[in-house]
Amino acid sequence: RPVLAIDIGGTKTMTALVSDAEVLEEVTVPTQRSDGPDTWLTNAHAAAERWHGKYDAIGLAVTGFIRNGLWSAMNPETLGIPENYPLVDKTSALFGARALAMNDAQAAAWGEYRFGAGSGGDLVFLTVSTGVGGGIVINGRPLGGLAGHFGLMQSFGGSSTYLEDQVSGRWMQAEAARQGFGATPAPDIFNAARNDETWAKAIVARSARGIAMLCRDIQLIFDPAEIVIGGGVGLAEGYLDLVRDISIQAPSAIRSNIVPAKLAARAGVIGIADLASRLLL
Ligand code: ADP
Repeated sequence: RPVLAIDIGGTKTMTALVSDAEVLEEVTVPTQRSDGPDTWLTNAHAAAERWHGKYDAIGLAVTGFIRNGLWSAMNPETLGIPENYPLVDKTSALFGARALAMNDAQAAAWGEYRFGAGSGGDLVFLTVSTGVGGGIVINGRPLGGLAGHFGLMQSFGGSSTYLEDQVSGRWMQAEAARQGFGATPAPDIFNAARNDETWAKAIVARSARGIAMLCRDIQLIFDPAEIVIGGGVGLAEGYLDLVRDISIQAPSAIRSNIVPAKLAARAGVIGIADLASRLLL
């Protein structure tokens, strides 16, 4: 039986009918930030209109933080979620099916572990995108709650700012502006770097260096078989090679096996659908 999977992100909401890790059908609509969670769910319900009756379980992969089925914002700038919104109960009531919720990057980590870049060993997934998110799979289990929200780490580099505010796509654009090159979006910074523009190469290199250091720390904490990297910045051409080049400078015993994500934008819905079908059906 297919599972209905809903991925609510800061910019878009993807609703998909998923069966055996295959997305049968999908609909993507913008997440209107000012609407709030009741309306985001109503919109997902409308988007899934023609699939009602075809699924017995629902998986939600969402930006922010889930504990005991309650949803809260990690970074309210990404999406203004009210504190402890009862996401699982509201979804079950609206759709008339059992529901399971997890953070989107945690769900993506599970998707990559089961059906993507994973080798079967312990895996850490990192998404370098507007911010930095992540997920951890240890001993065949995905970790929930706060685990994997690497973007909010502060120990990084002895600084009091968040890790993501030193490496993310949003940081790259802000840093270009700060240096007097205008609010250049990350893809344009990458293009400028490919054209050998020094300022752009330096910004990309600083981001890659931050992620390489994060990979080193992750290796020391979890010693995963691989670190899977996704996201618009993470998968930008040349980025992973840079991260690897910097990582190689570490003593060989601490090196990470850094590999690109395979499921791209569908990792979240595929991962959460698999979890929902295992745990709810
Ligand atoms: P989200 O943050 O919503 O998960 P993405 O993973 O697409 O979405 O990440 C968006 C970030 O990645 C933005 O900062 C964007 O500028 C950057 N980005 C997207 N595509 C590219 C690309 N081809 N090259 C470099 N940066 C990119």
